[in-house]
Amino acid sequence: MAPTLDEVLAAARAALAESLALDGRSASLEAQLLLAHALGRPRAWLLAHGRDKLHAQADRFETLLARRLAGEPMAYILGRREFYGLDLLVTPAVLIPRPETELLVELALAHIPDSAPWLVLDLGTGSGAVALAIARHRPATRVCAVERAPDALAVARDNARRLGLNRVQFLEGAWFAALEPGARFQLIVANPPYVAQDDPHLAQGDVRFEPRDALVAGADGLEALRDIIAGAPQHLLPGAWLLLEHGWDQGAACRTLLTQAGFEAVASHRDLAGQERVS
Ligand code: GLN
Repeated sequence: MAPTLDEVLAAARAALAESLALDGRSASLEAQLLLAHALGRPRAWLLAHGRDKLHAQADRFETLLARRLAGEPMAYILGRREFYGLDLLVTPAVLIPRPETELLVELALAHIPDSAPWLVLDLGTGSGAVALAIARHRPATRVCAVERAPDALAVARDNARRLGLNRVQFLEGAWFAALEPGARFQLIVANPPYVAQDDPHLAQGDVRFEPRDALVAGADGLEALRDIIAGAPQHLLPGAWLLLEHGWDQGAACRTLLTQAGFEAVASHRDLAGQERVS
């Protein structure tokens, strides 16, 4: 006999808690999100239908659950991630937007005047998360978003279209290569790759499924940050800003690179976990 949705959820919760070492609440939430996704219903719908039998979509649910039990990130299975209030499409071609990166957006918005027509450049936009969040909250800005990986750029363009944010211009290329030589901005932001290639953290959890090129930046993790800091001055207007996300232990190295490149007012900002995250 077909099990009820409540029974299916209880079994899935136990399996998720055990395989992925999740706490009870997270396991419960993930089980609900996977089942709701399989059924094509909102999660809240499950609350009133716990006694329904799981018939037609049982195979679909089993497939989703198996993927999650094999460690695949929820965001890739659901194809979605919320970032700074935006519902974003994500695929394995893009890094999954992180809560730490909301600090980069927060600082960018703190610099951009409410109604001034600023030109902003987002380097390595991935899903478009940072560029789109800035565009949503600063209607007068023109955001240019650059991405080297064509399959990532397609996701970013899709997100812009779905969110109706057509003030964002997308360019394909590595860092500054796609820009007109004379292009200058009031603000450049980037969440570049900044993990060292032999960092053991790359073998754990969600990052195993994410694009390497979006995470890894050479032996010391600073390769991309160095390239961006070296190239930025010729694309900044007088008095303009550069804001870079970096690893929790890279604040001092970034400040040194920025000072050497002639930047003034160099400072690092801490994320909600108290780590230096943006300089
Ligand atoms: N913060 C991410 C991590 O440690 C890395 C993101 C990045 O390289 N931009 O997984």
